[in-house]
Amino acid sequence: MINHFICPKCRSHLNVGDDLIFAAKSQDGRKGLILLHSELGNYTVRHNPHYDIPAGMKFEFHCPVCHHPLATDINKNLSRVLMVDPGNKEYEVLFSKIAGEKSTYCLIGENVNMFGDDAGNYVDFVNLSYTK
Ligand SMILES: [Zn+2]
Repeated sequence: MINHFICPKCRSHLNVGDDLIFAAKSQDGRKGLILLHSELGNYTVRHNPHYDIPAGMKFEFHCPVCHHPLATDINKNLSRVLMVDPGNKEYEVLFSKIAGEKSTYCLIGENVNMFGDDAGNYVDFVNLSYTK
């Protein structure tokens, strides 16, 4: 039972093994690869030791295949990917662009599942956008 994650633009798979792979650009202009754990609510982050990820710094995430920005209109601090479950159901997954901030939202229809200690930080935006 594995969920797959895809780019909303080119629909390439972003997960390899237990990780999602992103091309990232830090607030201070440094580019690199960031691997996030594919289990929602698991905030294990892997990166090369030469690519520094200071807590509190914002990173823009891009699809590593087509380089489309994985952003959402809901909030400029959230990234957006699609998740496909083993039953082929598609979800939107939003997660914080801020290093160390644990805010993840999994959306399908009007249902929002939240993960992470900081999930409250964006819940108003998410609710407003998805429960109309
Ligand atoms: Zn893509």
